[in-house]
Amino acid sequence: MLVSQRIRAIKPSPTLAINAKAVSMRQAGVDVISFGVGEPDFDTPKHIRDEAVRAMEEGFTRYTAVSGIPELKDAIIEKFRRDNNLSYERDEVMVSCGGKHVLYNLAQALLNPGDEVVIPAPYWVSYPPVVTLAGADPVIVGTVEADDFKLSTESLETAITPRTKLLILNSPSNPTGSVYTESELEALAEVILKYDIWVVSDEMYEKLIFDDRPFCSIAQVSEEVKSKTFVVNGLSKTYAMTGWRIGYAAGAREIIAGMTKIQSQSTSNPNSIAQKAAVAALNGPQDSIQAMLRAFDQRRIYLLQRLNAITGVRCNLPGGAFYAFPNFSYYFNAKTEGTTIKNSTDLCEYLLTEARVALVPGIAFGDDNFVRFSYATDLETIKEGLDRIEGALGKLV
Ligand code: GLU
Repeated sequence: MLVSQRIRAIKPSPTLAINAKAVSMRQAGVDVISFGVGEPDFDTPKHIRDEAVRAMEEGFTRYTAVSGIPELKDAIIEKFRRDNNLSYERDEVMVSCGGKHVLYNLAQALLNPGDEVVIPAPYWVSYPPVVTLAGADPVIVGTVEADDFKLSTESLETAITPRTKLLILNSPSNPTGSVYTESELEALAEVILKYDIWVVSDEMYEKLIFDDRPFCSIAQVSEEVKSKTFVVNGLSKTYAMTGWRIGYAAGAREIIAGMTKIQSQSTSNPNSIAQKAAVAALNGPQDSIQAMLRAFDQRRIYLLQRLNAITGVRCNLPGGAFYAFPNFSYYFNAKTEGTTIKNSTDLCEYLLTEARVALVPGIAFGDDNFVRFSYATDLETIKEGLDRIEGALGKLV
């Protein structure tokens, strides 16, 4: 076998694989509706694009400091102060090529072989492989629909062993849309401090929370908890900047320095032009976020009402992000032309072939009873997609 054991231990990102499949079906002339990848369908706001053009025209096209330009670090520090009442120094923040890259660097800088990382399921698809690639062991802890997929202190405590180094939290959650409240985070923080473990708080969907609910970062619970927390965030979702690849981390300076070392030996700095655009995004007008949020909210309400109207399907109302995670297990054991749909993968394959609708199977997020819908697509398309799904499910026996 030519490829390394490390590569054999992981699979390609299923969200990106499904996106690639939908794109190639479209290129082949198939009219496919994609609820697959999580990517805002809005343009990057004009003032951000203008700043990128200016940076390019002014020749800001060379290497920058590996961990990001000081101007961007200051904009990130100011964002944390303004939005989260958290204060960081420049050497406690760094910029990487998207949130996923931040997580990769962090795992490489923090974890040793044999360390355990507690990951509540449903989880975002890249958490376990990022941990595995660092030689550590993901410890998956299930949550249930009835608790809105939130990790309880009891389950966390049961999962912790002397090898536990880190917990990964994600609020609002991809794929469930669950949002932790301040008191829930306080309770989890007590366990974190009791066992002296670290926590990654993935806050990528911080700005996409509905019904005027407040956002709370676990780092806000206390200075002590903040000192054990790495906040991970990025610009992809908040400013519709997925392709620009700008993510950032804040936390213990020793680990930030380690992450910078890894980055210096792998990608070097994130794209110089995208960094300038990121400064404009963080320091500039924030009203585009509200416009996106209103559109997502309308879609959320429509999608939820349609999903819960399908026989056998139930779905919690997501509090944030732009995903719905309905339970479709009612359709397992249904038959189509002699073959049986056994799990979320079979169901998604059936819906892709029969209805030309792309979805991500729940198993990719660690729970096979569900499928993920990304509703970062217009209402008309959502309506057509749901009509098709209902039609295809109606053919099952
Ligand atoms: N985070 C998005 C998703 O879950 C983008 C794709 C990815 O990197 O996984 O669909």
